[in-house]
Amino acid sequence: MSKTQFSPLFKGEMPFQFYNKENERRIHVLFRGDKQHKRLAEKLKACRPKHRCLSSACATCTMHWRRPRVRTAARLFRTLDDVCFVTLVPDKFFVSKSGLENVKIGGFKNRLFKKMGEHLSPNTIAMGIIEASYDDKLKRVSVHMHLVIANNSKEQINRLRRFYTSVLPNLIRGMNVKEVDETPEDIKRTISYTMKGTTDFKPKVKKPKSFKPKKGKSTRSPEDIERALLLFRDRHKLNQFRFLKNLKKKGILLKPTISLDP
Ligand SMILES: [Zn+2]
Repeated sequence: MSKTQFSPLFKGEMPFQFYNKENERRIHVLFRGDKQHKRLAEKLKACRPKHRCLSSACATCTMHWRRPRVRTAARLFRTLDDVCFVTLVPDKFFVSKSGLENVKIGGFKNRLFKKMGEHLSPNTIAMGIIEASYDDKLKRVSVHMHLVIANNSKEQINRLRRFYTSVLPNLIRGMNVKEVDETPEDIKRTISYTMKGTTDFKPKVKKPKSFKPKKGKSTRSPEDIERALLLFRDRHKLNQFRFLKNLKKKGILLKPTISLDP
């Protein structure tokens, strides 16, 4: 068997083996669930080279899908000006475990594209990822979006704020905007910001202050939540979670030239 040399495309990216191991863990967790979870476990279990499952719940497929897109994004964003990191956390998508079943991420994106068209520069180029993470304190799953928006000032982007400002108490702000400096470190971050997909791999729980994790152990969502999150991911195709949008080309998504070929 030939060994493929792994070189991370961004900070935090792990070698291939990590994602295979992560899948084994997910399969284990899913098999402890009910019928629909077991079905997804079987699907992930059957995933292998040349017969990829292409599920968004599959760590390996997500990784293979992501890498060519990271390269495309890296090429594109290196040439752009006025770049901002934006986080959108709509109240509407702060949901219970069962509420997650009704979350339509297509609606989330369409609304954003519409608002961008109305309020941002026609030269806007944006790249985003939708993530779902669990907040242990609020016992809610937050479906939110991380974006990199180019060719707009921070002030221009702030025009979107009123559509995403949180009205619920105790929630993090509905919208957060941060300008990207032109340091090599920050430029690198623009690439990983929407591609890291931390919650793809480690559904984290907010730790209470007194919490002291054992060395080498990460805190995860409760298993039932993780199963719900995996089903949620599986219900959507990989390309539904991420997008690259060029407003000038009205509604046409810029597709990476390389397709998934693990
Ligand atoms: Zn797979």
